[in-house]
Amino acid sequence: MNEYDSDKMADVLRACEGMEPTDKPEEADVILFNTCSIREKAEEKVFSDLGRVRPLKLANPDLLIGVGGCVASQEGAAILQRAPYVDVVFGPQTLHRLPQLLQARRDTGRAQVDISFPEIEKFDHLPTAQTTSGTAYLSIMEGCSKYCTFCVVPYTRGEEVSRPLADVMRDVQELVAQGVKEVTLLGQNVNAYCGTGDDGETVDFAFLLQAIAALEDITRLRYTTSHPREMTQRLIDVYATTPKLVSHLHLPVQSGSDRILAAMKRGHTVLEYKSIIRRVRAARPDICITSDFIVGFPGETEQDFEATMKLIDEVGFDNSFSYLYSPRPGTPAAELRDDTPHEIKALRLKRLQGRIMEQEDGVAQAMLGTTQRALVEGVSKKDAQELAARTDNNRVVNFSGAASLIGGFVEVKITQVVRHTLRGELVANAK
Ligand code: SAM
Repeated sequence: MNEYDSDKMADVLRACEGMEPTDKPEEADVILFNTCSIREKAEEKVFSDLGRVRPLKLANPDLLIGVGGCVASQEGAAILQRAPYVDVVFGPQTLHRLPQLLQARRDTGRAQVDISFPEIEKFDHLPTAQTTSGTAYLSIMEGCSKYCTFCVVPYTRGEEVSRPLADVMRDVQELVAQGVKEVTLLGQNVNAYCGTGDDGETVDFAFLLQAIAALEDITRLRYTTSHPREMTQRLIDVYATTPKLVSHLHLPVQSGSDRILAAMKRGHTVLEYKSIIRRVRAARPDICITSDFIVGFPGETEQDFEATMKLIDEVGFDNSFSYLYSPRPGTPAAELRDDTPHEIKALRLKRLQGRIMEQEDGVAQAMLGTTQRALVEGVSKKDAQELAARTDNNRVVNFSGAASLIGGFVEVKITQVVRHTLRGELVANAK
């Protein structure tokens, strides 16, 4: 989501001010920090990063420095008190106003702060993304209304707001016109999508997926991230009817203990989560499931943690984002008593990650010898002589092939698994 937002910042500045990104901060006319406040001391990191660019501002008084993202949203004008050389402060929902904010700063000589939530206005002011890789992200909804007790997102990004169906479809068509074959639909809880349809009626996420899948030029569809409470049977049925929807579902569960799920205010039980997975697997037997886990939530006992390990064994996950609980100022959980020593939490996290890594290996081994359809995303990060492609179940496979394959689908036979990394051989070009 943050990468997407950073790209949008670059897009608006390119479109309105003719700016281009540079790798050299000393050459920049504008330096922006896109911040995250989901965990840890992101805030402190921003101030140390700002301190590093301050000498550039002293050397070039015309340089403009901006802070965007969720730390900006949380701190607002307080950022200017600690770092008075900052010129603009903007939130995730006001990044489209960057050109005006920069201009106002130039005109008035005063720092500008806009961290409001003007809802969906942002999307009407964003230029079309430019892409050449065959795949693109597309934001379909913003914000979160779930108010899990550990999470800052509803406070920093605002409540859930869905874009109208016609706007999303127009963006997909524009991406298709640039040769995009795969779209990843983005949002905090994409499956909570609830947009206004063409006749003024409300359409759900299952409807949107099918509408996009009906476009001939779209070959593959992904989405991230989703919430178990929004995993409707209508959406599960789309896995049975729509092969373009990939065999990968990222469904955050956070914990395998009902007691902790309730304290987190997740709104579902472990049994309900397992029931969703069972039904998704019935609709799409080869689907890979990935998840998010929070280890060491306040009050998590050894028994609660063992329940999480049991869930991991029962479901079988192919990868996870798993972190220690990090108290976030202003959230209800930050007020809870937390007696578990850090070392114990760290050991739990290590065990959990070790178990998921074993499962991840199992999935990779099972892919050995199979032929996979994959979208060639570019040159391999490990070896510039090789290409990197992404399989339906979200694995990267490296193989030798001509650069002209980038942006298209190929069939690759998986020949080797080296510590989670897949290597393969080109079998054929695919549609
Ligand atoms: N749809 C997702 C869900 O079901 O929760 C929301 C995505 S959330 C913005 C991204 C992930 O960040 C969460 O799934 C959670 O694991 C993690 N996260 C959020 N707040 C956290 C905190 N205070 N400490 C540790 N991890 C946190």
